[in-house]
Formats: sequence, C-alpha cells, structure tokens
Amino acid sequence: MAVRQKSHLFYQSHNRRPVLDQARGIYMWDVDGERYLDGSSGAMVCNIGHSNENVLQAMRRQMEKSTFGYRLHFETEPAELLASKVAALSPEGLDKVFFVSGGSEAVESAIKLARQYALASDQPKRWKVISRYPSYHGCTLGALALTGFTSLSKPFDPMMRVMPKIPAPTAYLDGLDPDIPETGYHYADMLEQCILEEGPESVLAFIVEPVGGASTGALVPPAGYMERIREICTRYNILLIHDEVMTGGGRTGRFFAGEHWGVSPDILVLSKGFSAGYVPLGAMIAHNDIVDAVMAGGGFLHGFTYAGNPLACAAGLAVIEQIEAQDLLKNAETVGAILKHRLTGLMARYPFIGDVRGIGLLLAFELVSDRNTMQPLPKELSAFDRLVDIAYSNGLIIYSRRTRGGLEGDHFLVCPPMITTAEQVEEIMIMLIRSLDTFAAEAQVPIER
Ligand code: PMP
Repeated sequence: MAVRQKSHLFYQSHNRRPVLDQARGIYMWDVDGERYLDGSSGAMVCNIGHSNENVLQAMRRQMEKSTFGYRLHFETEPAELLASKVAALSPEGLDKVFFVSGGSEAVESAIKLARQYALASDQPKRWKVISRYPSYHGCTLGALALTGFTSLSKPFDPMMRVMPKIPAPTAYLDGLDPDIPETGYHYADMLEQCILEEGPESVLAFIVEPVGGASTGALVPPAGYMERIREICTRYNILLIHDEVMTGGGRTGRFFAGEHWGVSPDILVLSKGFSAGYVPLGAMIAHNDIVDAVMAGGGFLHGFTYAGNPLACAAGLAVIEQIEAQDLLKNAETVGAILKHRLTGLMARYPFIGDVRGIGLLLAFELVSDRNTMQPLPKELSAFDRLVDIAYSNGLIIYSRRTRGGLEGDHFLVCPPMITTAEQVEEIMIMLIRSLDTFAAEAQVPIER
C-alpha cells in the first residue's frame, strides 16, 4: 500500500490511506497498482461510478468554451439547462433552483431562504429550525447548529444558536414494529410536541433526512412517519426541508427519496450524487411561493462566488443524463435488493450483526455485542475503525460511524455505485465475509460456522 510518509494536508485524524492514482467504474487503484472496490461510492457520492466517458466528454466540451461566468455578470446555458432539468424532476411546485458547491452550503441556503420567507410574509418571530438527533446536515456553523452529532458540534456550541432537536425514529432500537403506522406516528408526534413546547409562532422550519445517512446509518423511517411529519408542518405553517444531500440523485431507487412516501417538502437540498463526484456541486430547490415572496420582498440576500459554475452545471447535467440513459434508478432498486438480501443473510453467521437496514443502494449493517438487547460492542474495540481498515486490506472500501440514537454504536454503510452489477455484489460479499471473519477472530467475538 503506497502511503506517503509526510503530508502538508490536514483533515480529521485517521489512519493514513493509500495514494489514489486512478478510478474507473466501481474500482479505484493506488499508485502501487493495488485495486480497491469502492463499496461506499466515496462518502455516498460517486453514484454513477468513476470516469464515466460521457460525463468527461461533456466536461471537456464545456471547458473548451468557458469554466467560469460570474452569476451577476452572465447567465449560462449549462446552469439554465440543469435548473430546468432539476425542476422537472422535483415535486410539483418546487421549480426554483439555487446552485451551490456542496451539501453544507445547500443547507445554509435553505435556512436563510426560509428565514427571509418568514420576514417577507410578515412572520418575523419565526426563526427556530427543528432537527433530529442523531442527524448530519453539514459542518458550517449554521448547518452544524442543526446537526445532531454532539461530538462534532460541542466545541462550537458557544459560537452558534443550537437548535431544538427531536429523536430520530430508531424503531429497531426501541423494539417497535417499523411496518405499522402507529410507530411512525409515535415518532412524528414528537415533532408536534416540540413545536408546542417551543411555541409554534417561533418555529420556522423542520429539517429531515428522509433516509438517514452518516448519522443513523441508512435509517428508513417507519410507516406513516413522513406523511405525518408533512401534516404537522402544514398544520403549524412550518416549512418542511428535506435534506436529500445523500439520498438525492437516485441512490434509494427514486431520484428523490421523498418520492417513496409521496410527500413533498417546501424546500429540498441535494449535493453528493447530484454531480456524483465529478465536480463540487449542490442545489437548493424551493417552492415557487417561497421564492416569489422573497423576491418580491427585495431578493434573496445570499450567494456564493461559485454558484452556478458552468463547468459544474455541465457535469451535473451529464450525470443526470447518465442516470436516465442507463436506467440507474431501476438498477439501484434491483441490485440494492440483492445486496440487502445478501447482507441480511450474514446475520446467521455473525451473531454480532444486530441490524441490516436501508433502501435501494443506501444500505447499512450495525454491529452489537448482543442482538437481543442491541447493546453496542465495547468502545475499546473501535469496531467502526478496525473493520474498515481490515476491509481496506482486503481491497474493499466501506464507510463507518459510531453513533446511533442517544447511544453509541458501530454502523457501516455499504453503498456501491448505482452501476454495480449482481456479479459485483458477490465480489463485495467475498471481501466483506473475509473481513468480518478477521475482525471476529481479532475481537474474539463468536461466529456460527
Ligand atoms: N447533509 C447530509 C444529509 C449529508 O450527508 C452531508 C454530508 N455527509 C451534508 C449535509 C453536508 O454535505 P457537505 O459535506 O458536502 O458539505
């Protein structure tokens, strides 16, 4: 494994990783020629696989024409085309698109638009944005105030106005049946309770990841939850923001995950799979009524230099064209079902797999010390780090976090690109089983042979 000894880069502390050379489809190679299967699409980003020739061509064509046009000086064709494509894919009424360069920027934009809407519609007392714990909405201070991930936000608490949070619907931890609407109502009604406690006239919005990402590990809401959340927001005149940064762009088998429940938010944010890792790109899509009111009130007081960058938009458009041309939503659904079935099958061999969950190709498994009590593995094992390292040494990349509900727990996202085939699922499984066997031997946790 080619690892540089000295680097001037500093990110989060983590084990040094190999030096990337090139990537094609679902595989990546380091500078020593070692191959890795990208079993997490980076951080659930590279949905259409690496180095798609059609996207590269579209980018080359645009680069030859122009790579930058400041949005207050020029309109650009790629930005216009991508905006109308996104509007066409979005729920009815959400026709106004605002481009940014990533997920945190998209969330910031949504919060600021919501606030300006409240001011423009004579509701100046509304400013609180309710979110959930755990949740992840970004690392800039505004988005972090919504993020329910204490270890990430605590040091910055004095610098921001931490927003109210309700628990995520972790039915699998609470012993509730996720398939009956009563369970969904149980968790959704916590939103109503929070609104009443905070004072409905002070609440601006509720932000939710329709399917949890890094925070809850592919947590799919229980039956009835998303619908009831929509009803509650409407009843109290509170804007509903769907954070589809991880789910948007097809990973769950629909372009937007909200489509699974037939619910429309007032504002939608997306990034990651939207440009599938080809360029930094994100978007906020808002209901016409919201944008019309804000524009009539003097315009949106917000904007980033790189917003609507023509190269980024040309790449984003080409990515969506590939999703459509290759029918990748369908593939995410069918190959996702195969992968989920194979992951669930692992529970027979590994009693320390407590749960397998997810939808489409947004899938996760969670490790526990006891499946009956769902107690996590001892912290000292650092399972979330260790299993990832072992998988690396077997040529498989997966993504992990140690957080769940109010408790700690190790979960692992297995989210290969949407171009993954059924045969490649078997390849993933061979590497994963080898890795889990090694982990079990090391951690001295029993397996069934
Ligand atoms: N929202 C969600 C749901 C995310 O998963 C992420 C990134 N993991 C973000 C927001 C922030 O995106 P970015 O890292 O691009 O700023």
